[in-house]
Amino acid sequence: MQVVKPDLDSLLAAIVESSDDAIISKDLDGVITSWNRGAEGIFGYTAEEAIGQPIAIIAAPERGDEMPHILERVRRGERVDHYETVRKAKDGRRLNISLTVSPIRDSAGRIVGASKIARDITEKKMAEEVMGKQADRLVRANADLQQFAYITSHDLQEPLRTISACTEMFLSKSGEKLDSDERQLLGYVSEAAHRLSTMIGDLLTYARALDEDLLFAPVNIGEVVEWALNNLHLSIQSSDALISYDPRSLPTVLGGKVALVQLFQNLVSNALKYRSADRPVVQIAATRRETDWLFSVKDNGIGIAPAYQKRIFNLFQRLHASHEYPGTGIGLALCQRIVRVHGGDIWVESAEGAGATFFFNLPAGEGM
Ligand code: ADP
Repeated sequence: MQVVKPDLDSLLAAIVESSDDAIISKDLDGVITSWNRGAEGIFGYTAEEAIGQPIAIIAAPERGDEMPHILERVRRGERVDHYETVRKAKDGRRLNISLTVSPIRDSAGRIVGASKIARDITEKKMAEEVMGKQADRLVRANADLQQFAYITSHDLQEPLRTISACTEMFLSKSGEKLDSDERQLLGYVSEAAHRLSTMIGDLLTYARALDEDLLFAPVNIGEVVEWALNNLHLSIQSSDALISYDPRSLPTVLGGKVALVQLFQNLVSNALKYRSADRPVVQIAATRRETDWLFSVKDNGIGIAPAYQKRIFNLFQRLHASHEYPGTGIGLALCQRIVRVHGGDIWVESAEGAGATFFFNLPAGEGM
């Protein structure tokens, strides 16, 4: 078989022709001298229509003084790189373009024209605009939610405080005149008011979970775990827990640092709270999957029967009375909210009496 090698000129011509970018050349008077298929696709003029015309046919009038300025720089031998601007297509549509312009020299090194590569970034610009608007909407929606939570919690706490104060006053003034059943009933009222007040506070915490970092940034999970464990060092010490993780295996993800600390803190603190008679052993790990990171927090505690494994993520759902294990049932609901806002999900695998492993996934950012 004979292999025919194309010469360099025709190879270059073929590359220029097959490019999706517009590759155009013009002389120093701004007259178009070549126009590839990419330019036809982007600007709508055929090569026959464009060659010999002034480059100004694709100028957007509102950017009128730009082209002479660019040409002036080329005459001085300068190059213009990835300059984002607006051009006009044959049908009048405005196009967002990223432009690279370089001088063309003849064999004697004299500048005789300019080559220009233009990439249509209209869709990218639109996507950026949509993202920007969505971020604005998110910030506004969150501000509304916070305000709602703040006002309701403030307004609900007021009458509750009155109930608590009046019950206590009544008990101290007239407690002696009451029999033990009546005193017990009033005790229930006071306990319920106290509990309701804690729950309202928890609702506020839930609504404000992402206050501090609604706009995400790269977050190192190794640091997040360290921070969470620092916050828990007293309970880790007092329970003599063994907590293990390999900081090098923990990735950087796009997220909110404060919220992610809260997530790990809640999971580890539950692992200590719902411990068995054995010394608590908690393992934190992360595995890279195709498009996300799978995290796990595994303990050797009392475990959770399968029937309850979904329910525990709901707000105020708990499996134990508060005298047995203190709490209001907000921890895992908060974890679920944080994970979901980050684009992941959370679940548990466990059997009663056999420890529990909480899993959650977070999207893996590009290059992270
Ligand atoms: P709280 O601890 O205040 O009850 P959570 O939302 O953190 O609230 O947990 C909900 C319920 O899930 C707990 O009441 C407990 O029954 C169960 N649970 C959570 N974590 C664990 C765990 N690591 N091991 C066993 N049970 C757990």
